[in-house]
Amino acid sequence: MVKQIRRVKIGSLFLGGNEPVLIQSMTNTKTSDLKATLNQINSLYLAGCEIVRVAVPTKDDVLALKTIVANSPLPVVADIHFNYLLAIAAIEAGVHKVRINPGNLGGTDNLLSVAKAAKGRAAIRVGVNSGSLPQNKIDLINAGRLTRAEAMAETAKEYSDFLDDNDFHDIVVSLKASDVSTTIAANRKFRTLTDIPLHLGVTEAGTLFSGTVKSAVGLGTLLMEGIGETIRVSLTADPTEEIKVAKEILKACGIRRLGVNVIACPTCGRTNINLAELAKSVEKMVESITEDITVAVMGCAVNGPGEAREADLGIAGGKGEGLIFVGGEVVEKAPEAELLKRFQFHLGKVIEEKRNDRQQ
Ligand code: SF4
Repeated sequence: MVKQIRRVKIGSLFLGGNEPVLIQSMTNTKTSDLKATLNQINSLYLAGCEIVRVAVPTKDDVLALKTIVANSPLPVVADIHFNYLLAIAAIEAGVHKVRINPGNLGGTDNLLSVAKAAKGRAAIRVGVNSGSLPQNKIDLINAGRLTRAEAMAETAKEYSDFLDDNDFHDIVVSLKASDVSTTIAANRKFRTLTDIPLHLGVTEAGTLFSGTVKSAVGLGTLLMEGIGETIRVSLTADPTEEIKVAKEILKACGIRRLGVNVIACPTCGRTNINLAELAKSVEKMVESITEDITVAVMGCAVNGPGEAREADLGIAGGKGEGLIFVGGEVVEKAPEAELLKRFQFHLGKVIEEKRNDRQQ
């Protein structure tokens, strides 16, 4: 396992070194539609996205990049396939990184031209997907001499070695498969080979539900092993959903504290309040709070107070009423209809105290 990961600049941020694992997403607008794209970038930013990627399949999209970069609150990555000239034009327009698959750029001369244009201006993400391996690697897989994951890792290593050998070092690599175990194996393998930061993702992960599960398993496994410097959760859904899932994965892995950690009991025969609704409302209430706190929403007074005591703030339901805990102490008993309002009141006080503590 490579211990020290190379630090690569992406706009005002860095990947690798001792930097936190960054969250990214991709717009699904036509990039040339400036208004729609910038609106979506803003929504992503407000949701907690840290790097944004836009697809650049046409010249019209390249023309939009200058304005997008100038107005984006986030570093911008251009996603380019097939046309190395579009990659160079995107770099000239000021993007902070280009995502390319060197295998479909039309040869190493073209890759070198992109690297020359990017030198000192933008990073390059070398993207290798399981479905787009070079023929020599496919032959080795078919001959049983390489697994698909090994072939992906080796391919990415060859491309990144080529860039390093040509004095271009601001490299990030992604190795994606729609199959979770191949994604995990390919990233594990690559991490043993180089110090290059890894962008993690499970490609074509699926809809909100199945994509969340696949990403949590795939990305979570790697992150828990210390592998991965930036993540993108791919979902067939509004891109802001990707950010929510990415944050939860990072929180669950204990890698980053990103706002409020909500714990809720699964409910059982002892539950006498509408806990599912209450938990949903609490989750919504704390969605945009950035303070590092834990809140517990528990169904009853059996385990409830115990869990709620561990949290900064908690609710333990009773029969048509509930207890509110702050810092392990019961501060109030409220009827079910009032519970959420009273909880919000105490939440405000807890956050205020946290902010005051920070300022001291
Ligand atoms: S906290 Fe109470 S209601 Fe919730 S699962 Fe545990 S025992 Fe059941």
